[in-house]
Amino acid sequence: MAKVTTVEQAMEIAADQTLLASCAKTFSVGGLLVDDAGNVLHAIPNQVIKDGYTSDPTAHGERQLIDWYYSNRPGLPPPSQVTVVTSLDPCCMCTGAILTAGFKVLTAAYDTYSGINYDKTSNFPSLTIGMASRAKERFGYPEVVDGVCYNRPAKGPENNVPAFTAKTIEGRTVALCESIFEATLMAVRNQINNDLPFDQLGDIDSLPSSDPIRVALSRKYPQALQYRSRAPFTPDEGLAPYLKAMMQHDIALGGRGQAVALLDHHGNLLLCMSGSEATSSIRTAFMEVTRTYAGLRRQLQLDGNKDTRKYLPHPKYCTFVFGLGPMLDDSHPVRHDIGPDSQTQSFMELGAYGSTMEGALDAVNPSPYQYVRPRMNAATLAAFCKKLPPLYSGEIKVNPIQVANEALIEAIGGSA
Ligand SMILES: [Zn+2]
Repeated sequence: MAKVTTVEQAMEIAADQTLLASCAKTFSVGGLLVDDAGNVLHAIPNQVIKDGYTSDPTAHGERQLIDWYYSNRPGLPPPSQVTVVTSLDPCCMCTGAILTAGFKVLTAAYDTYSGINYDKTSNFPSLTIGMASRAKERFGYPEVVDGVCYNRPAKGPENNVPAFTAKTIEGRTVALCESIFEATLMAVRNQINNDLPFDQLGDIDSLPSSDPIRVALSRKYPQALQYRSRAPFTPDEGLAPYLKAMMQHDIALGGRGQAVALLDHHGNLLLCMSGSEATSSIRTAFMEVTRTYAGLRRQLQLDGNKDTRKYLPHPKYCTFVFGLGPMLDDSHPVRHDIGPDSQTQSFMELGAYGSTMEGALDAVNPSPYQYVRPRMNAATLAAFCKKLPPLYSGEIKVNPIQVANEALIEAIGGSA
């Protein structure tokens, strides 16, 4: 196991990971986990794009490091003694994941478009008061020296890793982390959004049941295509049994009863999953669904299936139906006794939804994020979403809404 004694040494490992990401033509970001003694536990690049296809829209370096931690946990120090060292300021998804897990953070470069510290104040205006106070204790932005124009003072906790004898980063390291990300950003985003336009999409339900796309889909979810909503983008009461079954499955697994269904642009049920929070507290239902869908599309395309994008459209043409709505309101008490913090998980899911869309929504489907049972006031939620970093509030316009169908709401258990 490598050992580092300065923040610069740790940041150089993160910078090396950005090079790997750049060569793989994915977002050029990387990071590592370091314990308080300076041991490097694991380092990893972003892996959103693999072999030219979107592999997993949630495969940011930080998110993967946290899942690695949960898979290797016996023998590792507790999260409060582990720091995520990252080349770029964490996005909303990764911030939610980091706060859920309880890690500390050291960041090299700011990201003024999608970073949680997009305004560089370290006040975290996109978070609730409770979440922001925890971020202020844990998210450090070390002092940068030697740069001609990269000099900056330290912001946030400077002593995140007690073993570090020097707390500053060199300007050239920050310059690399920042410029390699910016140089490749638009190419990667375009790659994620190179799908067919709406008017060229097909109806998967018109394919014979032996079609490889249908076969692959039903392997992921045997009940796929057993339900279709009466109108596109309008989930109705016919979805209730599928959603309810997975919500109950989630409770049986120790979760709080969350499930997410994915409907395509005709309203065909593609997937419905619970979380896998016994494995990792950041494997919530939405994370499982969006990753499963992306993985399915990538595998079919790698297998040479040219109709994949026609019958399994970009997620912006789909509807994610959450059994439980977001919970982002400090006036609700945080219930650690019933598992991980719902607020940080909800924030992670809003961010992961943004990473899944990775661009403006299409006018044909203004609300791909719908929920059945609310857990907070709708106006408070809308105001919260307007304060997210520019990618989410200005470009994607993240806007979760409650489903319109009263019978579905009734079937899933009504009001908050
Ligand atoms: Zn991220």
